[in-house]
Amino acid sequence: MGADSITTYVNQPLSSLEGSSPKTRGLLTRLVGRTILDLLYHFPSQIQTRIYFSSIQDLATKLIHQKNEGSDTDIFATLTLTVSKIMWPPRKGLPIRIRMSDATGQIEIVYFTLSKPYLVQKFPLGSELLISGKATLYNKLIQMSHPDFVGDPLLRSSFVGNAPLYPLTSGLSHSVISKALHRILLHLKYLINSNEEQNLFEWILEERLKETGWPSWIEALEAVHTATSVDALDPQSLPRTRLAYDEIFAHQLTLLLSRRQAQDQKGRSFIGQSDRINTFIASLPYTLTSCQQYAIHTINKDMGDPLPMLRLLQGDVGSGKTVVSFIAALNCLTNNVQVALMAPTEILAKQHFHTLGAWCKEMGFRCECLQGGMRTTQLGKALKEDLEKGLIHLVVGTHALLEDDIKFKDLGLMIIDEQHRFGVNQRLALYKKGFHPDLLVTSATPIPRTLQLTQYGDLDISALRNKPQGRLPISTHLFSEGRIEEISLKLKTLLQKNQKIYWICPLVEESETLDLTAAIQRHTCLSSLYPPDQVSLLHGQMNPAQKQEVMTRFAHEGPHILVATTVVEVGMDIPEATLMVIEHAERFGLSQLHQLRGRVGRNDLPSHCFLIYSDALTPIARQRLFVLKNLQDGFKIAEEDLRLRGYGALLGTTQSGSGAYKAMDPYVHAPLFEMAHKDLQKILALDPFLESPASAPLLSLLTLFQCHETLNYLRAG
Ligand code: ADP
Ligand code: MG
Repeated sequence: MGADSITTYVNQPLSSLEGSSPKTRGLLTRLVGRTILDLLYHFPSQIQTRIYFSSIQDLATKLIHQKNEGSDTDIFATLTLTVSKIMWPPRKGLPIRIRMSDATGQIEIVYFTLSKPYLVQKFPLGSELLISGKATLYNKLIQMSHPDFVGDPLLRSSFVGNAPLYPLTSGLSHSVISKALHRILLHLKYLINSNEEQNLFEWILEERLKETGWPSWIEALEAVHTATSVDALDPQSLPRTRLAYDEIFAHQLTLLLSRRQAQDQKGRSFIGQSDRINTFIASLPYTLTSCQQYAIHTINKDMGDPLPMLRLLQGDVGSGKTVVSFIAALNCLTNNVQVALMAPTEILAKQHFHTLGAWCKEMGFRCECLQGGMRTTQLGKALKEDLEKGLIHLVVGTHALLEDDIKFKDLGLMIIDEQHRFGVNQRLALYKKGFHPDLLVTSATPIPRTLQLTQYGDLDISALRNKPQGRLPISTHLFSEGRIEEISLKLKTLLQKNQKIYWICPLVEESETLDLTAAIQRHTCLSSLYPPDQVSLLHGQMNPAQKQEVMTRFAHEGPHILVATTVVEVGMDIPEATLMVIEHAERFGLSQLHQLRGRVGRNDLPSHCFLIYSDALTPIARQRLFVLKNLQDGFKIAEEDLRLRGYGALLGTTQSGSGAYKAMDPYVHAPLFEMAHKDLQKILALDPFLESPASAPLLSLLTLFQCHETLNYLRAG
C-alpha cells in the first residue's frame, strides 16, 4: 500500500507540515492551496543568482554600479562577516538592527520580528558568520533585512550560484519555501524507495516514456524545484512537460470514466411522436436554420438510441439553442416522460419558464418553475408532490433541482443551460439521485478546437454555427469615457422609437458595493434625463422577486432603459432591446463582452453596442476592444482573445472535475491533450475497468489529484 501512503502524504494539509511554524504554514496555505501536493506544484518562476563577495567594499561597488545603471535586479549576496553590535529598538514595533563588519566596512542586518533570546544566540558578539540575503543600499548603508541564511562560514558553497525563486506572498521568504520543499521531496523519495511497488507511480505508457525521454514523476518534481538555469523553468523542458502531461492525463481519465459511468447505465430509447413535433415546428414564427435542423437530427438519433445521450449543444449567443432544446424535450414529453431544465440563475430559469411554459401550454403539457426559496412554501411542497407523481411534465429551475428532496416519477432528459457554470461533479450528483437521464448541455462559450478536449472530453458536440437569417450585425462603437453625457442624451431617439436599452455598469474588482454605487449613480443620472418610470436598476444584491419584477417591467413595458451590473450576462432574451452600452468595457473579458453584446440584435432592427473605455487604456486593452468592434463571430473572437491573452485566461474560469490545472500551461501544452487522449483510449481498451495490476498506477494518479468522485463511481460500478 505504498502508493496509498504516498498519495495520502501529499494530500495531507500543509498544516501538518513538520519543521515550520503555524504562521508559516498558514501563509503557505494562503499562497499555494491546502495540501502538500499544492506546494509541490507551486513551481519557481525565476532563477536567482547568489554571489559571494569577499569584502563589503566589493558589494558596495556592485550596488552603486547597479544603481547608476538604473537596473532593478535584486542582488543576493553572501559574505563572511563579524558581528560587531546588536542595536535593540528603543520602542516596541521598531526593527532590531545588527551591525556586521569586515576590514572594509560594515553592513546592517534588520529584523522586524524575532525574539531577543534567539537573536542573542544566533549572533554572538565578535563571532564570524556567513550571511546570505538580498542586499540593498539605504542611505549609503548596505542593508540586508531578514537574511535567508545566517550561520557557519563553512557552508559557503551552498550559498553561491543559482537557485529557483518562487512566486511569494508577503511574510514568506524563498528560503522558507525551499526548505519546506526540500523536506517534502526527501520524504517522498524515502517513501518511493522504501516501497516495493514503486512503479505504482509510473502511470504513463512505457512506449510513450521511451519516445519522449521524460523523467519519472519524482525526478521531474525534483528537477523543477532544484532548477539552476532559466532553461529548467521553461514549460517545454522535459520535467515540466511530464508534470503537465500527468495532470492532463488525470483530467482526461476522469472525463472518460465519468462518461463511461453514464453510458454504462441501461439507457432508454426515446422516439418522439413526429406528427406532434412537426406541428410544433410548423407553428413557429420562423423556419429553423440548417444548423438547428442538423442538431435536432443528431439529438434525435442519440435519444432514439438506447445508450444515454451526453451531448453539448454549443452555439454563439442568439443562435437559437432554446428551441432546439425544447424540440429535444418533446422526444420525452410526447412519450409521457419527464424533462428537467436547469439554468444557472433564477432570472434565466424564469425566462425559460416563460418561453417553454407557453410552448408546453400550446401542446397540452404542464410546465412549472421550481425556485430555491420555494422549498418550504405551500406552493413549493405541492409542486414537489406533483413532480413526484409525474403530474408535471417539464420542470424548470436552478441547481435547486439537484437537491435531495426533488424527486421525479420518470426523468428522461436533463437539459443544462449555459453549461460553463456546471461541472462534472454536478452531473455526477444527478446520477446519485438514481436517475440516468439523457443529458443535453448547452453553452454559448465558444471554445477553440484545440481546447475542446480539455473541457468536453466526455461530451459529444453539436454546434450551431450560423445565426438565424435576417440578423444584422451589431454595429459596435468605441467611446472614451468623456463622452458619457453625450451618449446619455442620444438614448432619446431610441426611446422615442419604442426600443429598449441595456446600460451595463463596470465591474469593480472585488467590491460588489462599489459596483453597486456606480450602477446607482448611473441610474440616478439617467432618471433625471428621462421619465423615471422608463429607467430601472438591476443588480446582484436584489432578491429574486425584485429582480424578476424589474425584468418583467423591462421586457413588457414599452421603451425602457435597464441599468444593470453584469447580472444580465447570460441568456437574457428580450428581442426589442437594440442598444447595449457598456461602461469601462476594458474591465471585462472579451467573451464576456461578446455575451453582453449578444443581448441585443435579436430581431431584424439594426442594433448597436457602445463600448465606453477609460482614458487610461493600455495598448493591449485597446486592441482587445478593437477585436470586438471588428468581429461578430464568437468563435473568431475567442481565437483572437486566445492570441492576445494566452490560453490560461480562457481556461481560468471554467470548471473541471478535478480542479484547476497547476502544471499545465495550455499555450505550450495543448498538444499533450491529444496525446493523453490517445494513450488513455489504448489503456482503457485493454482494461476497461482498470482492474488489472498493470492499471494500478492509474488509480494512484486519480488519488494523487483527488479525483475521488470518479474513483467512487468506478468502485461502485
Ligand atoms: P441562445 O442560443 O443565445 O440561447 P435563444 O434560443 O435565446 O438564443 O434564441 C435567440 C432568439 O432567436 C430568440 O428570440 C428566438 O426566438 C430566436 N430564434 C431562434 N431560432 C430562430 C430561427 N431559426 N429564426 C429566427 N429566429 C430564431
Ligand atoms: Mg440560451
